[in-house]
Amino acid sequence: MTQPILPGATIGVLGGGQLGRMFALAARRLGYRVHVLSSEPDSPAGQVADHEIVAAYDDPDAVAELARGVDVVTLEFENVSAVAAAAADRHAPLRPAASVLHITQHRIREKQFVRAAGVPLAPFEPVYSRDELHAAVGRIGLPAVLKTAAAGYDGKGQIRLETHADVEAAWHPSHAHEAVLETFVAFERELSVIVARGCDGVMDCYGPFHNTHERHILDVSLLPAEAAERVSREAREIGFALAERLELVGLLCVELFLTEDGRLLVNELAPRSHNSGHLTIEACATSQFEQHVRAVCGLPLGATTLRVSAAAMANLLGDLWAGGTPHWRAALEQPGVALHLYGKREPRPGRKMGHLTVVDATVAQARDAALAARAAISPMTTRSAS
Ligand code: AMP
Repeated sequence: MTQPILPGATIGVLGGGQLGRMFALAARRLGYRVHVLSSEPDSPAGQVADHEIVAAYDDPDAVAELARGVDVVTLEFENVSAVAAAAADRHAPLRPAASVLHITQHRIREKQFVRAAGVPLAPFEPVYSRDELHAAVGRIGLPAVLKTAAAGYDGKGQIRLETHADVEAAWHPSHAHEAVLETFVAFERELSVIVARGCDGVMDCYGPFHNTHERHILDVSLLPAEAAERVSREAREIGFALAERLELVGLLCVELFLTEDGRLLVNELAPRSHNSGHLTIEACATSQFEQHVRAVCGLPLGATTLRVSAAAMANLLGDLWAGGTPHWRAALEQPGVALHLYGKREPRPGRKMGHLTVVDATVAQARDAALAARAAISPMTTRSAS
């Protein structure tokens, strides 16, 4: 049996973003110390950690330095190179393991893994050249989506192909090595589940969450998702099956399309906490971040049950700053609104700067209140209203 890593020990986190920040806050509440490796100083996670090492994520010496000073290493993003993962693992257990990262950091390997597990996903084909792209379009048909195999997230490196002219124009030097072509799914809605799996193989699951995206970036998440009991059960079963097959220790988010005819198709996996699970901080007995701590430290998992009837989360992107500093008072004045800001100085368009969570009696009320709170803090909305 794996020895638990008890409060008082030190956890290392690869990545300095908001997921690392909320992980560090949860870990510190449980009495752990947290060391972070970040690519930039004063990172969102570094600001709340005990120690921040600033270096490139693929710098094996820096990763080894992090791992030497901690009892376990985990991560807030999956694009950790094999060399860096091995450097960590020499000094402290890496959870989730390098084998999980190898699969989930590469779309082709990930999709092949999901298919081999017998879990449904949209038809796809790996493509390695312009000629192969044309051939794959011939088999898969249009509309389709072309995605880079590695390092894509939030729709980055992704092109929708509607016509043969789009196909001709689509092949880009960034695809030169590997890409994947998949059918464009006319989904009824997008859902996600977040599975936690401990060192002892015990699993639990949050969701499904109902997610809506703007410009490919998550905009709003709702819990519980208004989905048939069969759909919710199948979504959780898919999550459990994939986490088990990965022999995961930690969290696994599974993003899913629900098709108009009621089928669930896997879109993407992320072996970490996820933006769609932020509302678990206010809505669930144990947040996804505390659950991540528990899973990688070999502690018993916490309950994933809802503490409230319904919750909604709305992301705050850098675009909100376009007309000046947002009116934080407007959110803080409302008793049901929880404001989270990630300590990022530069509000660039599309950059995740924070989020709002609202709990309420129904998902519709929670969603409306979250959207109203976001509109109320926006300098653009309030200026045009005045
Ligand atoms: P991804 O980066 O693959 O998670 O994609 C980001 C978002 O793009 C998804 O959440 C969907 O809203 C949309 N998307 C991605 N792939 C497809 C697809 N095959 N069909 C329809 N929409 C897609």
